Amino acid sequence: MTRSRDVGAFLPEEFRHVRYGWDDEVAAGLDPVERLVYRSNLLGSDQRVTNTGGGNTSSKVVMPDPLTGEDVEVLWVKGSGGDLRTSRRENFASLYMDRLRILREQYQADPDKGPKSAAEDRMVAAYAHAVFDLNPRASSIDTPLHAFVPFKHVDHTHPNAVIALAAAMGGERLMRDIYGDEVAWLPWQRPGFDLGLALARTIEERPGIKGIILGQHGLINWADDDKACYELSLRLIEQAARAIEERDEGAKTFGGVRCRPLGEERRDEVLAEVLPALRGMVSRERRFIGTVQSDGPVLGFVNSVDAPRLAELGTSCPDHFLRTKIKPLYVDWDPQGESTEALVEKLRAGLEGYRRDYAAYYQACRRPGSPAMRDPSPTVILVPGLGMIAWGKSKSESRVTAEFYNAAVEVMRGAEALDAYIALPQQEAFDIEYWALEEAKLRRMPPEKELARRVVVVIGAGSGIGKAVALRVAREGAQVVCADVDGGAAAGTASQLEERLGQGIGVAGSGISGCGPAVGVEVDITRRESVRHLLSRVALAYGGIDSVIVTAGVFVPPDREGRVADEKWGLTFAVNVTGSYIVADEARRMWAKQGLTGTLVLTTSVNATVPKAGSLAYDASKAAANHLVRELAIELAPLVRVNGLAPATVVYGSSMFPRERVVSSLVKYGIEFGEDEDTEALRDRLAGFYAQRTLTKVPVTLEDQAEAAFLLCGERLPKTAGQIVSVDGGLEQAFLR
Ligand SMILES: [Zn+2]
Repeated sequence: MTRSRDVGAFLPEEFRHVRYGWDDEVAAGLDPVERLVYRSNLLGSDQRVTNTGGGNTSSKVVMPDPLTGEDVEVLWVKGSGGDLRTSRRENFASLYMDRLRILREQYQADPDKGPKSAAEDRMVAAYAHAVFDLNPRASSIDTPLHAFVPFKHVDHTHPNAVIALAAAMGGERLMRDIYGDEVAWLPWQRPGFDLGLALARTIEERPGIKGIILGQHGLINWADDDKACYELSLRLIEQAARAIEERDEGAKTFGGVRCRPLGEERRDEVLAEVLPALRGMVSRERRFIGTVQSDGPVLGFVNSVDAPRLAELGTSCPDHFLRTKIKPLYVDWDPQGESTEALVEKLRAGLEGYRRDYAAYYQACRRPGSPAMRDPSPTVILVPGLGMIAWGKSKSESRVTAEFYNAAVEVMRGAEALDAYIALPQQEAFDIEYWALEEAKLRRMPPEKELARRVVVVIGAGSGIGKAVALRVAREGAQVVCADVDGGAAAGTASQLEERLGQGIGVAGSGISGCGPAVGVEVDITRRESVRHLLSRVALAYGGIDSVIVTAGVFVPPDREGRVADEKWGLTFAVNVTGSYIVADEARRMWAKQGLTGTLVLTTSVNATVPKAGSLAYDASKAAANHLVRELAIELAPLVRVNGLAPATVVYGSSMFPRERVVSSLVKYGIEFGEDEDTEALRDRLAGFYAQRTLTKVPVTLEDQAEAAFLLCGERLPKTAGQIVSVDGGLEQAFLR
């Protein structure tokens, strides 16, 4: 590989703090816009270069105008939304450079111009007049940072190492030590049109510079060759990271260790105990989904002497605090000396204090016309011994929040090693958090799905109705715990869900362990210990529960003499009745701790009301389950609504209908069939027979059952409790009286 001029002191293999990925052969086969996408993906794939959703890149490309065919200069710049790691061509906005220059003239002529002025914000809407080739991608507020830098290629990134420098007390002086004269410094200014012009002015005054450190924000650098621009980005980051490394404080980092971490087992026990209560406290306005992180770097921070002081200072980079709020809640708990109950009390008091502080911050910084105060609860909570608990509207969002706070910790570590960390002034933080443009972005977000912010546990999710239910509720935005006595089948459904829905942002490439929007867990509901283990896993994965849907059940046919052996009878009741009771009994403790409303759906059967030859134990157990629904509805009210779902026989896709059972049913009902017919054809015959006994005359499906389970677990029937909903095609004998 050839060493280009801008790699400077480093050969590609000499980078230690970033990953060098450029491949000339790959790049050679790409058009200029594809090369920009390639460069962006390379930068985005390394979390040390830029974080999820942060940073943007651009290239100025001469290409034919679609209308006139004449060559025009077009700015291709990463648009609003998405992130560099996964961006494709459609994530880039394209704008005529000559029109952007007209916008600059207009802005400069505006007497009301200036940072944070309405004139500046008006420019964002004006980008639409500069769109090239009807490209529908909205331009980001960072567009002028690229447009007015007079070089072909520009990278703007948020590397932890550079933000550490940008957020260190003596940052500007340190910058000169590290980069000499080739990099300039611009003090903090909210990104926008005016910052773009400030960059242009700085470059005009100091034509030799290759990049600019944006105070308390990040890095911007450029080149007329795209590979050189990429290599320059890496080199500048590498230099900052090496400077931090040289000043690393080792065991003295963050002032040294203040408390020891808990053992893994004890830690998970405490977390599982505390998380539901905490979720209830932070979900006072709207429900949140949690992500726990307890790895070395996070524990190193939360267990340190300086953690309380630094946490209180808040985060610096605007990217960070839009997710993490201006500061996290740090709870001063002694993991070795204090009890779990004491922790819950400290969390409660800490949250009260945090909300008061947040309201005071809002009142002190608000301006005429500021958007209304948002949810004052923290999104990041730090507990010594345990680690970090991050909250978001979905699993994916809470993971990203966690990821951003990781970045914030790295920034503080670097800044403290270099000098002393300084956070952004509150008013500046407020002016980003409550920026009209950010508010508009929030309003443009698609409405949340019906089961968003909810955790639904489906027991029996490995196959049949349970699997259909898991798919159904996941489609409505729920985080789904797929539980089954067959752990492999449970994991299978969970990975199928993630394949369909995607893992969400912040999973791949992130250092945070844990799960995506679905998780598979093995459970035997006849054993209380196993159910407890399941619920601990639920708490650790998402923070708590909202709904439990039990579809697990067993059907044991009588023997040839029509008898059911005692142990088979016992097993039938253990699964179909006692198991549901144990689940309800354990889950109610978690619901009570959360203090949030929930729903429980038990699956019974039309056989509960229609006695049928050949299913004695099953039918009796389902009749008991029907009454269990009513008893539990009374026991768990008013916090949890309990209802039952009574399916009629579902032949298609049910794990209860292997070929032998289909054949024996066909024989039982005297339905003719050929021995050589395939199983699907036999199922058609049986399903058709069952359908003819109903009022609607059509076979019931797994999806019909899943639809009813979804209705009962969500908020569509909020006044229904203690009821059994039959999904049986209309079976007269099963009418409830
Ligand atoms: Zn930025």
